[in-house]
Amino acid sequence: MTPKIARFLATHQPATPCLVLDVDRVEANFRALRDALPLAQIYYAVKANPARPVLQRLVGLSSRFDAASIEEVEACLQAGARAEAISFGNTIKKVSSIRRAYDAGVTLFAFDSREEMEKLARHAPGARVYCRILVENEGADWPLSRKFGTTIDSARYLMTRAASLGLDPYGLSFHVGSQQTATRAYELAIGKVAMLFTDLIEAGVNLRMINLGGGFPTRYRDEVPEIGRFGAAIMRAMTDHFGNALPELLIEPGRFIVGDAGLVSAEVVLVSRRDPDDPVRWVYLDIGRFGGLAETEGEAIRYRISTQHDDSPMGPVAIAGPTCDGADILYERSNYRLPLALTCGDRVELLATGAYVTTYASTGFNGFAPLGEYYL
Ligand SMILES: *Cc1c(COP(=O)(O)O)cnc(C)c1O
Repeated sequence: MTPKIARFLATHQPATPCLVLDVDRVEANFRALRDALPLAQIYYAVKANPARPVLQRLVGLSSRFDAASIEEVEACLQAGARAEAISFGNTIKKVSSIRRAYDAGVTLFAFDSREEMEKLARHAPGARVYCRILVENEGADWPLSRKFGTTIDSARYLMTRAASLGLDPYGLSFHVGSQQTATRAYELAIGKVAMLFTDLIEAGVNLRMINLGGGFPTRYRDEVPEIGRFGAAIMRAMTDHFGNALPELLIEPGRFIVGDAGLVSAEVVLVSRRDPDDPVRWVYLDIGRFGGLAETEGEAIRYRISTQHDDSPMGPVAIAGPTCDGADILYERSNYRLPLALTCGDRVELLATGAYVTTYASTGFNGFAPLGEYYL
């Protein structure tokens, strides 16, 4: 928790549940990543947290933006981003969204299929395009599965055709999966696309860029490698494969930029036991899976939880949300322990919840209000 957040919680005691985010930490994370990978252009993945104060601070730092929808493109423009600084990075876009982005001046688009490339050729003529390659997501706590990306052979075919359709075949991209804790995942992915990159150049395609995607981890319950280790591993791999002829490098961090900048302040609604002899207490909070903690699905992302009793004895707990839905359990198998003194009405903090929380909050399920948000 940053001093600014601690002061805000102490003086305002905002109604729970709410996210409180320190925008100075967003800036610090952006600078740390820029220092770790000084040759890479940073395109902030807006979906991680699209709040205006976050976008504005990043605009002030000359960040660029990776937008997943026309709404995100427009949010960036409204926050002061230049259209040339926005990449429309979703490989699945409505025609109307492509047109609106193109008309607004966006010139950089992703695709991973022939069908989407043809849509871009028709509705965003002359645009710079990059093709997303399917890579292994091993080592990622929140993998992006097989929904995105194409094979090397298909990417080769598509990129050799892009120019004849009137598009500018700008580069290749991948995403190693979110909350990726293995630097090796980037090395393997770079190895995979580097060969294709070189082949395409030799075939006369004017490729200039490799987009390494996002994935850089935030510290949750478990330690993660320092960002400098990712930077070093990536630059080593790039140099191994390209020598001095490095292509332009892009990265699209989301979680790393905003994750540890915010926390959720929540309230304990009930502490109970299934049976009086059961050592495991059930702790019900006023936020759960539907209030924004969607990434607890499969207990994939394990947030740290702090309470006002943290120096007292602890015991095992299962932790759940407040709705009447059986899926609304945060942690049952991940060996969480909370203070035995914890009781109904206590405030707790879920740390490092600045990414992928506010936007996952449902509105009105079971009548619960959406998550409050404060940006300091
Ligand atoms: C979600 C996403 C990102 C951001 O991923 P993080 O793991 O949050 O860094 C970047 N690029 C694309 C294409 C994405 O879908």
